Amino acid sequence: IGEPAADSRVTPMMAQYIEIKTANPDCLLFYRMGDFYELFFEDAEQASRALGITLTKRGKHAGADIPMCGVPVERADDYLQRLIARGFRVAVCEQIEDPAEAKKRGGKSVVRRDVVRLVTPGTITEDSLLDPRRANLLVALSRVMSGETGAVFGLAALDISTGAFTVSEASTASLAAELARLDPAETVVPETMLEEPALAELLRASGVPLSPAARDICDGATAARRLGDVFGTATVDGFGGLSRPELCAAALAASYVARSQRQAQPPLSVPRRSGSGDYLEIDAATRASLELVRTLSGERSGSLLHAVDRTATAGGGRLLAERLASPLTCPDAIAARLDAVQALKEDGGLRADIRSILKAAPDLSRSVQRLAFGRGGPRDLACVRDGLLSADALAQRLAGVELPAALANVSGRLAAPAPALAAMLRDSLADDLPLRTHDGGFVRAGHDPELDAQRALRDDSRRVIAGMQARYAEETGNRTLRIKHTNFLGYFVEVPAAAGEALRLAPWNATFVPRQTLQGAMRFSTVELSDLETRIAAAADRALARELAVFGELCAAIQQHGDVLAGVADALAELDVAAALAELASEQLFARPRVDRSLAFDIKGGRHPVVEQALAGAAFIPNDCCLSSSDAAAGKIWLVTGPNMGGKSTFLRQNALIAILAQAGSFVPAAEAHIGTVDRLFSRVGAADDLARGRSTFMVEMVETAAILNQAGERSLVILDEIGRGTSTFDGLSIAWAAVEHLHGTNRCRALFATHFHELTQLESRLERLMNVTMRVAEWKGEVVFLHEVAPGAADRSYGIQVAKLAGLPAPVVRRARSILGELEGAERGRPRRSVLEDLPLFATAASIPQAESEPEPTMDPLAEALDALDPDALTPRAALDALYALKALR
Ligand code: ADP
Repeated sequence: IGEPAADSRVTPMMAQYIEIKTANPDCLLFYRMGDFYELFFEDAEQASRALGITLTKRGKHAGADIPMCGVPVERADDYLQRLIARGFRVAVCEQIEDPAEAKKRGGKSVVRRDVVRLVTPGTITEDSLLDPRRANLLVALSRVMSGETGAVFGLAALDISTGAFTVSEASTASLAAELARLDPAETVVPETMLEEPALAELLRASGVPLSPAARDICDGATAARRLGDVFGTATVDGFGGLSRPELCAAALAASYVARSQRQAQPPLSVPRRSGSGDYLEIDAATRASLELVRTLSGERSGSLLHAVDRTATAGGGRLLAERLASPLTCPDAIAARLDAVQALKEDGGLRADIRSILKAAPDLSRSVQRLAFGRGGPRDLACVRDGLLSADALAQRLAGVELPAALANVSGRLAAPAPALAAMLRDSLADDLPLRTHDGGFVRAGHDPELDAQRALRDDSRRVIAGMQARYAEETGNRTLRIKHTNFLGYFVEVPAAAGEALRLAPWNATFVPRQTLQGAMRFSTVELSDLETRIAAAADRALARELAVFGELCAAIQQHGDVLAGVADALAELDVAAALAELASEQLFARPRVDRSLAFDIKGGRHPVVEQALAGAAFIPNDCCLSSSDAAAGKIWLVTGPNMGGKSTFLRQNALIAILAQAGSFVPAAEAHIGTVDRLFSRVGAADDLARGRSTFMVEMVETAAILNQAGERSLVILDEIGRGTSTFDGLSIAWAAVEHLHGTNRCRALFATHFHELTQLESRLERLMNVTMRVAEWKGEVVFLHEVAPGAADRSYGIQVAKLAGLPAPVVRRARSILGELEGAERGRPRRSVLEDLPLFATAASIPQAESEPEPTMDPLAEALDALDPDALTPRAALDALYALKALR
């Protein structure tokens, strides 16, 4: 784009466009022209590609055509959603004056326009752009350097669709995990941080769109002043002693929102500390591989959240997602949640009643926020009304029931929270509500006398028109005469073309003045009709103005009750989650876990909640897992061996998921569970190539393993699946061996370690807190049958060939593999692999341990094998003769 002022051929409109675009270089500019948002130049090219809409041109700039594309204003939400999903940011530029004003200023003036808001992934509020069951978080980062503790990061997480605002702290080591917990839609990062390669890499790895902030706010005074401005308070002392990094991050988040929402500022709740160290820390890779809230391919279905979500409301759905993402570490807080679930599990009747009331409850917090934000409509008013009604119904149902503390607290917040507001909404809102405020018709008849009077006038006029039409038909003797209305012409009289001509020429006609001639009809106006029209329009205008005034009053009343309504919304969500988890527990036979400060991990009859539900009908085999040790300051390691498809990964993951569910305050898929709170959960299961970042599978695996071995402590739970796979056998075996020793001796954590290196089972006799378990299999008529049962001991064989056969490997390949295996195993009995191992210092101590003799695969006789390979029908006589000689030679 050239310099606008220097080029005299630039039209005034283009000059305006270029000026606004230059001020918003990192956004696609939606430039309002009438009923369309138009995009020009490169924006047009990008948007037309992303949206699959036609690229046209409009005028010329610097001698070249200007590419252009447009989206209708009415359907803008849909297009915005697709652009945001593809990572674009959009600046919405509106006409900010009436075109008539521009005309008054003279011929060349263009209508004033300005950007009214930036639409970015973290700042959307449109219902159609939001997932009702997910919080949409904007996270802002700050960093404060301190000599003693190094860098401390502040994280502020803001959901502008509900106004929720929390802050927390992280160290350099825990930053990635804290970001993963928050799972933001967009992260605002000071540019200075992005200039540091290591930090930039860490932030980019989160996969969340990053928005650079030109200046960071890193001194407490500036941050406090900014926040004071946003909340209209002189000090931020009332915010509950936020640390400097937290204040700075909160100020950055609030400024970013102020900058992006220029037209209307969303009300935000006062930043609340979400408390670091209170959550079970789960790093991003572990979250992803355990598929907590979405699967590896990004879908909700198939995730833990999907399998356990029985919530009835959107707010409850969001709260459950938040709880699963942030399990607690304090046994008392966990017990309080479990008490609530238990009470509702035991009282099925109460639970059913609560759930049926909740099913009708609306998304209160998002509606309140939209109204406060100036983006709400009549249906949002109805949501507030219905939310209060649901609260009331629930409070009545809970009255007199003996409840545990958590539920008693909820019930208190639901009881008649804002009776006057509820009555006001009930009395003023009509039964059927229009989508948009400006359509009118949402105020109930009888609520406002002036409105009723204007409506009567308007409706009465309609009756007058009907009378007028009858009279005109009579006067003209034309029964087909009609009085009609269009937005463009207003009211007019219409008759068929032939009759029209006669009417126009009739000598007696002084009433009907021709307006328009169409193909088959002629249209007339009359003075009487125009008068009436003016009266109707005035009455309709006055009626609408009155309705808008009522709307304003209701919004103001709702805003005044903001805190109460937020409390009701939270209470509804909490009750929903408790009832939903109780429903889940009784439907899926989950048990209440015992969670305390010990280092126990003792699961009886544990199941994998997602695999179990996916099996639908087929039985899932429950398995125990006991990692409690007699050493009070350390956990046990279970070394899990067994064939592929035997159920190792399922077993490992189910135990991690049970820990997460328990600490999130849910019952668990097990007969019994005793868990000493886990403070960090690590898992390394199944590696995916991270080629985008230039790392091979093996490299990713080693980076993740390194993180675990460096960080896990005695309160951690570690799940390691098949490490050392991506390299040569001896390399891999050595690494896995050393890793187990390190976990046992240094990390001393509770761990599950699945491996295909059977050699590792020898460690059991050397490491006191290590125990071998294996996935049992049976053989039946030469086929392998997986029992999915965990039993003490080591796997004797890997059954790889049987599994390959099950997978449909061609029969000749299976036969050939069997024969090679036979040779290898035969050779091994002579000298070979075992003694090769013994030559390694690593295994020298283990060599004396007696091995379970493995059954060799039956070796096939070469003659029989050659015979097997022959297909007599396919042989020519000559080839048959050759084959015969060849067979004889094998003898
Ligand atoms: P591995 O990791 O040993 O290769 P998986 O854990 O992937 O095996 O399990 C393979 C399949 O076996 C799973 O997809 C599941 O359908 C089934 N499975 C695993 N564990 C059980 C179980 N306890 N009960 C029933 N089926 C199971």
